[in-house]
Amino acid sequence: MTYCLAALFAQCPCSGGSGGGDSSGSAPWLLLLVGFGTWLLVRSIWKKEGSTTMGKAGKLAIVLALVAIVAVVLVMKKSGASIPVANSAPPAVATQAAAGLPRLVDLGSTSCIPCKMMAPILEELKKEYAGRMQVEFIDVTTNAPAAEPYGIKLIPTQVFFDAAGKERWRHEGFISKDDILAKWKELGVSLGSSPAAASQPASVPAYERLEGTKTDSRAKDSICYMCDGDIDAKTAVIVKTDKGDVRLCGLHHYFVLYTSLAEDKSGFEKKAQVADWSTDKPVALTEASIVYGLDEKTGRPTIKAFADRDAAAKERQASGGNVVDWKVLQDKELANRCAFCDRAVYPEDAALVKIDGVYGWGCCSHCAIGVAARTGKDIEVHEHDLLSGDEIVVKTAGGSVALLHPPTAIAWFGLHKGADGKFTSAGCFHQGFFVNSDNLKKWIEQNPLEVGRLISIQQALSDKTKLTAEQIQKACKIGECAPK
Ligand SMILES: [Zn+2]
Ligand SMILES: [Zn+2]
Repeated sequence: MTYCLAALFAQCPCSGGSGGGDSSGSAPWLLLLVGFGTWLLVRSIWKKEGSTTMGKAGKLAIVLALVAIVAVVLVMKKSGASIPVANSAPPAVATQAAAGLPRLVDLGSTSCIPCKMMAPILEELKKEYAGRMQVEFIDVTTNAPAAEPYGIKLIPTQVFFDAAGKERWRHEGFISKDDILAKWKELGVSLGSSPAAASQPASVPAYERLEGTKTDSRAKDSICYMCDGDIDAKTAVIVKTDKGDVRLCGLHHYFVLYTSLAEDKSGFEKKAQVADWSTDKPVALTEASIVYGLDEKTGRPTIKAFADRDAAAKERQASGGNVVDWKVLQDKELANRCAFCDRAVYPEDAALVKIDGVYGWGCCSHCAIGVAARTGKDIEVHEHDLLSGDEIVVKTAGGSVALLHPPTAIAWFGLHKGADGKFTSAGCFHQGFFVNSDNLKKWIEQNPLEVGRLISIQQALSDKTKLTAEQIQKACKIGECAPK
């Protein structure tokens, strides 16, 4: 089974970027051509049959020609995308480039479908590149004189002007935001650095804690391998491996572990045992009956495993949910994945990542921002402060933070001290964003075992964008980036 997230982010062909060859643009020419062809045909038939009488063939030709003309007119009307050519003048180089900024002019209407698809993109560009690029929309149906100098053949058409006001490129049809930004880059036109990024302090307050304020006195067997949380005997999972038993706090973290393995996973479930909810005794995962429900407050799944199906049915009667086997549970658990590291996530816990209008998840804040590195696209992250739950929004543009809300938001880079005394990433369960450094410090006080340092969100992004594709492939995998 492969879960290809790349497919999720692949652009839908129906909204493809280079749809410049819209046939409706050639409709006026087609009309002329059909008219001329018809005239020739009628003339030749007339000549053949004598100039005074029109035979059956001649009448038929005229009828056919009329039908053809009506058809062409209908096509033009239906497409709604063709407009009268302005004097069929050569593309005019507009000179009103203001303030020495690169300028993008989109000529369209409010009714054609690709034009409508352009509207939100233009809005976003206007906001995100305010002060760096001029974005202009000209409605050719209500403002024909303004459109005329551009001499366009169909709508929408986008015309790219550099800072000197020189036309550098034009495109017909829908074009995506990424393709617009890529084109500027290709043309060598710099859109400058984001004022939002510039307003972010270059250096965030220095803060780190490399030694916990408490030592972890818990027995090793009672600590979850994935999250370092306590293991409850009622939900414990044990995975038997060649290197010894791996203990987990519950089945969700079993699936997080499963999706963090770089090795061949076939038959892995046979190594897992889960505690029976009523007796705490281990039962093979593949034999267990699972009561699967939803927590009414958080919406997170609740999972209780039973060795005995009748016991499971009784629990279901008492507390609701459904009795399922491990395969159904696996399908549920693997359905939502981190768009950076591929781990199983619960959307209720995850950061939301928007990529080209498609939503994905980040299993932690650093993974969420890393989606920009994995996809090479500009993204928007919605994350919650680990202490207060307040929302933090980050937008990236070309590998930089272009918008940060609130501007005081910072990141915590959780670290783990290895046996050799060196610090490495403590993994996804120990990372987070905060609306400000005060919230981070309060959270640190509440979590005496956490160690790490405060970094800027730009730093968190840069740490990901400097990774190679191969390193991203291995990110967060067990034994790859954070050996334990
Ligand atoms: Zn855990
Ligand atoms: Zn992740």
